[in-house]
Amino acid sequence: MSNPRRPETVAAHAASHPDPLTGAVIPPLHLSTTYERDEDLGYGRGRCYARADNPSFDAAAATLDGLEGGTGTLLFASGMAAATAVFQALAPGDHVVVGRVMYWALRAWLTGAASRWGLTVSFVDTADLDAVRAALRPGQTKLIWAETPANPLWTVSDIAALAELAHAAGARLAVDSTAATPVLTRPLSLGADLVVHSASKYLNGHSDVIAGTVTAARADEFWAAIKAVQVQQGGVPGAFEAWLLQRGLRTLFLRVRAQSASALTLAERLSAHPAVAAVLYPGLPDFPGHEIAARQMNGGFGGMLSIRVKGGRERAIATAARVELWRRATSLGGVESLIEHRASIEGPTSPVPDDLLRLSVGIEAVEDLWTDLATALDAATLA
Ligand SMILES: *Cc1c(COP(=O)(O)O)cnc(C)c1O
Repeated sequence: MSNPRRPETVAAHAASHPDPLTGAVIPPLHLSTTYERDEDLGYGRGRCYARADNPSFDAAAATLDGLEGGTGTLLFASGMAAATAVFQALAPGDHVVVGRVMYWALRAWLTGAASRWGLTVSFVDTADLDAVRAALRPGQTKLIWAETPANPLWTVSDIAALAELAHAAGARLAVDSTAATPVLTRPLSLGADLVVHSASKYLNGHSDVIAGTVTAARADEFWAAIKAVQVQQGGVPGAFEAWLLQRGLRTLFLRVRAQSASALTLAERLSAHPAVAAVLYPGLPDFPGHEIAARQMNGGFGGMLSIRVKGGRERAIATAARVELWRRATSLGGVESLIEHRASIEGPTSPVPDDLLRLSVGIEAVEDLWTDLATALDAATLA
């Protein structure tokens, strides 16, 4: 390779070369669990056992590494396996500062298993730098964890500022960049030490793979500890899931740019709809955090937004009940648009308002999405 490749090109080729054996342009699927040892008992071809050395992981891992600008990417069986591996690479007694608004299953794990295991967890608003500064315990705080934009209120945290705070306190910054994707934000270039994705969402993009990734800025001892969690606990994807992920990554830029453009159109129109009390979207100029988003997100503000429906919980649920094109389902980042009443999924401890509907914008014609949603909002208001 002579000329540097732009990110769109890296993604389109998924870091693969034609198969030297057959000339196949698309990488083969490797199902073998084990690899032959040399006569002198070495592993001259670099592979031993598929939990650690699966060649089907290589294309997706190398693509992500290129897109995020990292020195290594690990694939996990899910976004949760990826995220928890980062915390499990810490030691009992360590203190972590995490966002109060974040992916709910990770919040549940942090208040449950992680706390029992001995991590001390402070939940703060990571968009509020003073609150983060006050929560840091120099010497004991080892990690700041920020999701940005954060599910499902899409709060934006300032990655560069958080990295400075973390480093001054002797801690690392990990960013859950699932909603932003490397198309829009590259946390490592802003100073973050680790970037984590639920690859089940935009990276794969077709709602047919559960997987997660961790990419590191440096191959240091903390990275080695995360890798040890991955290999020893074995929370790795199957070969076919990893293969599907490299296929999904090839269209990442087209999908995310289209989804971001449609989400902005919908956010603007929904802001003017009489049945909507508020639209939460980092691309709207009056959204708190818009300025930071405009600085650290390039080429769009993502495909995720939420609306608060006038009339509260019942009106919100009635709206979701009336859509015909949007699918009523959890998850996000697929090519098909999803609508979800979030509070009822998260349960009674959820900080999410009862009147909130989360929208994951797909790649359908935006006018079809708008007509369906506006009709449902109107019908729910009249009912
Ligand atoms: C879905 C999600 C996760 C968890 O990922 P899984 O692949 O479902 O385990 C973590 N963070 C964010 C922001 C998510 O949306």
